[in-house]
Amino acid sequence: MKENCSHQTDCLKMIQLILDGEATDQQLAKLKINLESCQPCIRMYHLEKEVKELLTKRMEKRCCPEELVATIKSRILSFT
Ligand SMILES: [Zn+2]
Repeated sequence: MKENCSHQTDCLKMIQLILDGEATDQQLAKLKINLESCQPCIRMYHLEKEVKELLTKRMEKRCCPEELVATIKSRILSFT
């Protein structure tokens, strides 16, 4: 298991695509391999997923999520 990701920007992009449901099968397969070997990307994936779920819940309540996003983004930054 790697402790550092040398391709974190790409990984994050891919994770966001997947969580948006816009990733191709090829990207999905690539990320799956990644998540089995890349510790920071696993954390990032779960954080992004959490963000997305929270945002979805907020949107249902018609709240402004800006503050929430700022909070979570700072949490993500503290991981890197
Ligand atoms: Zn990675």
